[in-house]
Amino acid sequence: VKSGTKNNYQVFDQTIENQSLERRLLESALRSALKEEQFFLEFQPKINIETNKIIGAESLVRWHHHDLGTIPPGKFISLAEETGLIVPMGEWILRESCRQVKAWQNEGFPDFVVSVNVSVRQLEDPDFIEKVKRILEETSLSPMSLELEVTESIFADVRNTVSILEEIQKLGIQVSVDDFGTGYSSLSYIKNLPINTLKIDQSFVRDLHTNEESNAIIMAIVNIANSVGLNVIAEGVEMEEQANLLVKNGCKLAQGYFYSKPLKKDDFEKILQVQ
Ligand code: C2E
Ligand code: CA
Ligand code: CA
Ligand code: CA
Repeated sequence: VKSGTKNNYQVFDQTIENQSLERRLLESALRSALKEEQFFLEFQPKINIETNKIIGAESLVRWHHHDLGTIPPGKFISLAEETGLIVPMGEWILRESCRQVKAWQNEGFPDFVVSVNVSVRQLEDPDFIEKVKRILEETSLSPMSLELEVTESIFADVRNTVSILEEIQKLGIQVSVDDFGTGYSSLSYIKNLPINTLKIDQSFVRDLHTNEESNAIIMAIVNIANSVGLNVIAEGVEMEEQANLLVKNGCKLAQGYFYSKPLKKDDFEKILQVQ
């Protein structure tokens, strides 16, 4: 029994060692990824489900490494946040998103809005507002065409983030609460904090058509949003049944594989042209 335990520990130790080795390798690869231009963006359309028109897109970062292949954000965003690399990376993502959407606007889609994910770590950067302003100037994108998606976790530390979000809103930029319903959801922040949109988390949408509770929760979120004048969008819509129930519940905006996966720039342009 003893030796078995010992062996288990050894296996355990090795796993930890491998994990931290993998982590260190990933971290050093991530450090050079930005200057080696290994990041690119995909865009997932946001749809008005009553008219089936594209109203905008969420930009999602992708990392293509020459040896490791394409690494999903789930594998590197948290590492980028822990190491602070998310700050320069996030600046690149924001600039690239704004630049791309301005180009689409110029090609005949003037109302197009881009939603960019922003980590808490970026909001804590004292230069964040200045960077956002500079990027809008550089790309000549109207602030009204930009939305920042933040997760509820930022409201856990209300002191700083609120004033930053207020400044963002004053610039004319929209603020959306991502993954709404999964974190520190609180009715008081809906009332008091500078936000424009609630983005209903995909966990509620996933079983919307089979689970009465998810359906009821979505209906409640939509009703609250409508009655306090917030926009509401559902993410992770994969089936027509879900889309129909969303319409029935009064939710007018949606995003998900049912409409389109996140697309590379060229593919996105194709669907934009035919709509
Ligand atoms: P998120 O912001 O909640 O993004 C939604 C995720 O759901 C994306 O995964 C998207 O591809 C995926 N998705 C979209 N439609 C569907 C659907 O119908 N079904 C399912 N099952 N999934 C769907 P992705 O691109 O792998 O991104 C994962 C997370 O990584 C994001 O979650 C976000 O937290 C983070 N992330 C991605 N891009 C960025 C970025 O540019 N900056 C920051 N800070 N975080 C990012
Ligand atoms: Ca998001
Ligand atoms: Ca989300
Ligand atoms: Ca998420």
